[in-house]
Amino acid sequence: MSTIDWHQRAQALQIDGRPFIKGRRVDSVRGEHFDCVSPIDGRVIGQVARCGAEDIDAAVQAARQAFEDGLWSAKPPAVRKKILLKFADRILAARDELALLETMDMGKPIQYALGVDVPAAARCIQWYAEAVDKIYDEIAPTGPNALALIQREPMGVIGAIVPWNYPMIMASWKLGPALAVGNSVVLKPSEKSPLTALRLAELALEAGLPEGVFNVVPGYGHEAGEALALHMDVDAIGFTGSTRVGRKMLEYAGRSNLKRVFNELGGKSAFLVFPDFKDLARAARTVAGSMFFNQGESCNAPSRVMVHASIADEFEALLAQQAPRYQPGDPLDPATVMGALVDDGQLRTVMGYIESGLSEGARALCGATQARSETGGFYVAPTIFSGVSNGMKIAREEIFGPVMSVLRFNDEAEAVRMANDSSYGLQASVWSQDIDRAHRVARALRAGTVHVNQYDEDDMTVPFGGYKQSGNGRDKSLHAFDKYTELKTTWLRINGA
Ligand code: NAD
Repeated sequence: MSTIDWHQRAQALQIDGRPFIKGRRVDSVRGEHFDCVSPIDGRVIGQVARCGAEDIDAAVQAARQAFEDGLWSAKPPAVRKKILLKFADRILAARDELALLETMDMGKPIQYALGVDVPAAARCIQWYAEAVDKIYDEIAPTGPNALALIQREPMGVIGAIVPWNYPMIMASWKLGPALAVGNSVVLKPSEKSPLTALRLAELALEAGLPEGVFNVVPGYGHEAGEALALHMDVDAIGFTGSTRVGRKMLEYAGRSNLKRVFNELGGKSAFLVFPDFKDLARAARTVAGSMFFNQGESCNAPSRVMVHASIADEFEALLAQQAPRYQPGDPLDPATVMGALVDDGQLRTVMGYIESGLSEGARALCGATQARSETGGFYVAPTIFSGVSNGMKIAREEIFGPVMSVLRFNDEAEAVRMANDSSYGLQASVWSQDIDRAHRVARALRAGTVHVNQYDEDDMTVPFGGYKQSGNGRDKSLHAFDKYTELKTTWLRINGA
């Protein structure tokens, strides 16, 4: 466990909220700012530039120029790899600083910012760096009179728009593949958590990424985000966020230059426990751990727990035993496992869903209250609802807070039907000792990832993304390269054969 005095470091923290364009911090054109409020105690810790269309335009121009100049886009993959590996090393070297910024900005426990977010961001950059000089293009099986090359080319300027729940990880899932293949990037972090993205850009420059290749423009979604998504010189948008805003991304593309849009959106993932699964205590520990991790602010949180009626009472008792482990604490205390919700608005949203669950007849096994209000921060106790039906609002809508719903089913067909009866399809999980059932149910579930007898185990090698209204893109794995490259065919005639 870390021996650093995080409170002392937090007191000394200097916030620079200015945009990073063409290799340096600049003032925003209009010079407007907004408060950066720490959810730990509701204190204003700095000012962040409220960038608008003019700043986005400057960043896109810088990105385009860098792309056209070929300082990065025309570099051999092995050279890009070297620089990106240095970038990953810089991230790891700045571990303490980045973790503190992330915790102060969005309220997650410092132990996870240090042990999960920073290494995962570095690992992602490293993985795409390592991959990019090992991928070959194709030669089509034509006749003897032709040679047809099918090659991937970088697209140009990628706009990345990301949410606040895993700011560094979400940014790196876009940056890793987009930069590795030679694109330039303009990143618009969430207004609720812009600090680490701005530092990442400085670290990338120090590692040798040429000026203009990676720009970060903070600001509100309806201003900076909209300007980026509408920009006529942006070739693709890698978006992670809510389904509501994902819809807008498609509209913006339609209203502008038909840029490619890759949406990674919300979820309401089902966790199915069958009565043949022996170790119910492990299943309960796992679902509580995944649900309450990051204060429940995870797109893939298993928020709909579906349990066979014959074991439901026992399972609910096991779940309730888990709740004390996840009581919110001071995010800067290295022992804390659940921190603060990102802001006052999210606190009110989550409490609104809790009230809705109670008024629709669900029974709270624990929680259902705010916590640590005396701190001035935004905390909610881990909440588990029993007696939930799939038609209730708390079972249909993404809450994005520490609220779990337990539903009951009577047979496999009903379990699959309930799990699939959702507008979302991000992830799901099946718990069964019966190998046929596990495969059968995994095949029947309409979700981008199905976990079997575990949850959340994965790495960079597998895609992450959803079916239905959970999105259309895939982050992670080699498949992410498809989003940021164009396929070009070059057909050569060979005479004399
Ligand atoms: P959000 O959609 O409100 O915002 C996401 C980003 O879009 C932010 O940068 C925001 O400023 C910007 N934005 C907002 N309105 C905009 C507009 N009108 N035009 C352009 N940009 C705009 O989402 P959020 O609250 O930041 O994040 C939570 C959501 O993200 C949840 O739904 C969660 O499930 C989802 N998420 C999905 C994944 C995934 O991989 N599928 C991962 C993490 C989070």
